Amino acid sequence: MHSQFSAGPPSNDRAERDVPGLPSPASGADRTPLRYDVIIAGCGPTGATLAAELRLHDVRVLVLEKETEPKSFVRIVGLHIRSLELMAMRGLLDRILEHGRQRPAAGFFAAINKPAPKGLDSAHAYLLGIPQPVIERLLEEHAIALGAQVRRGCAVAGFEQDDEGVTVELADGEQLRSRYLIGCDGGRSTVRKLLGVGFPGEPSRTETLMGEMEVGVPQEEIAAKVADIRETHQPFWLRPFGRGIYSVVVPAAGVGDRAEPPTLEDFQQQLRTIAGTDFGVHSPRWLSRFGDATRLAERYRVGRVLLAGDAAHIHPPIGGQGLNLGVQDAFNLGWKLAAQIRGWAPDTLLDTYQAERHPVAEDVLDNTRAQMELLSAEPGPRAVRRLLTELMDFDEVNRHLIEKITAIGIRYDFGAGPDLLGRRLRDIDVKQGRLYGLLHRGRGLLLDRTEGLTVGGWSDRVDHLADPTAALDVPCVLLRPDGHVAWIGDDQQDLDDHLSRWFGRPAG
Ligand SMILES: Cc1cc2nc3c(=O)[nH]c(=O)nc-3n(C[C@H](O)[C@H](O)[C@H](O)COP(=O)(O)OP(=O)(O)OC[C@H]3O[C@@H](n4cnc5c(N)ncnc54)[C@H](O)[C@@H]3O)c2cc1C
Repeated sequence: MHSQFSAGPPSNDRAERDVPGLPSPASGADRTPLRYDVIIAGCGPTGATLAAELRLHDVRVLVLEKETEPKSFVRIVGLHIRSLELMAMRGLLDRILEHGRQRPAAGFFAAINKPAPKGLDSAHAYLLGIPQPVIERLLEEHAIALGAQVRRGCAVAGFEQDDEGVTVELADGEQLRSRYLIGCDGGRSTVRKLLGVGFPGEPSRTETLMGEMEVGVPQEEIAAKVADIRETHQPFWLRPFGRGIYSVVVPAAGVGDRAEPPTLEDFQQQLRTIAGTDFGVHSPRWLSRFGDATRLAERYRVGRVLLAGDAAHIHPPIGGQGLNLGVQDAFNLGWKLAAQIRGWAPDTLLDTYQAERHPVAEDVLDNTRAQMELLSAEPGPRAVRRLLTELMDFDEVNRHLIEKITAIGIRYDFGAGPDLLGRRLRDIDVKQGRLYGLLHRGRGLLLDRTEGLTVGGWSDRVDHLADPTAALDVPCVLLRPDGHVAWIGDDQQDLDDHLSRWFGRPAG
């Protein structure tokens, strides 16, 4: 565990604030000192995950979060299989499992109720129900434990980039400088807007109110009414949440200003309109609203500034994919950006982040568009929903949809090769136990069943496990730090070419 940066950045905020007479970003030698390698705007799940991934490689990271306190409202339904696998790959899964509830990996495509397909290709084939504030806290704690600095109450308000770095300006005028800036600052991303990157797509057509509050009528009365209404209004529920508190979800009257939180009266009014009663709701803990806008950033990178998570893509929460997608962006980007900073990245490595992740987000946006259609109460979409419900009785259809939503079906385009190339490798048995246990340090791994290959001059970046017993049906695989298969084969020259492609020039 690293408690300080190894390369000498300040270990507390005061040192940064003490920099006297901050000059303009473009003033050459007078510039604000380059104290950080990476500044991340936003300490949501994406920003916290990225910070931790970078710290595995001793990158000096500062996370700036505009909120002074962590969020308290609960948005998330669950962590899907691929995210659980990634947590296992970094030794975090056991801690996360303590805080969640495992459920079958089923029933989340358009909320169509079907059992999980048998034999999903994962050692972690379940959904983990866990509230978003809890997962955010665990990810932030993990990043801090690895040595990331997190400053709360600091909103990124501007930046300017040049050949050597980015000067970031905070809302209070303070300036900080780093080599890269990553916008993980959510759907209304300031970084994306300042970067001038287009965010095309569809605006919200509907909005939903969501909150936690107490109710004034018995549970049985609520349950009967809710079951009735859910026949026609999918985004509607009142669920007991413990200690007399209910989670309430109800369609909003229209599309409003999402920056303005809704009021208790808005909830009461909408409950009366839809259910004929407001269930005596009172004493709200928190109130929120969300829309169904669907948008994707045109570019994920402009020079030294990159986007990840909701800053790069937004879509309706159906299927519970947004947080998962952002965390997976961070795993894709982290080691590549670290390689760039450590100086061993091949020229095009950082650009593979957009090449690989943009199509994945496009696919998620499309599947949420499809799911939203299937929730419509109109006769046409209801007929399509009935048909798809029938089709999902075919195992291959059900499996395809689950693999899509849980992200275990992703295959990056690494060129021609066997089907496994570009896919993630599941957590197989190896002679030291489990494969993912060997990936905690975020390095590459050669899993060598021939016992005849070597990682040579790449051994400072890539581990080598000679293991004839590994449960694989190919001779050798080269895994990237994010667990995707970068090469399959048994020829040393071919391996060296692929080590160069992903891990740069050999040392020495
Ligand atoms: C009702 C609902 C249910 C959902 N359920 C699920 C689910 O089951 N599964 C799932 O995967 N996803 C779900 N999502 C989506 C999920 O909540 C988001 O996709 C996820 O929070 C995105 O994470 P992020 O870190 O990219 O962005 P955010 O969580 O939005 O975090 C961005 C952070 O940046 C900070 N910030 C903003 N501007 C600045 C600035 N200028 N400077 C510094 N900091 C800034 C914000 O305060 C925030 O902390 C749901 C969403 C909703 C609305």
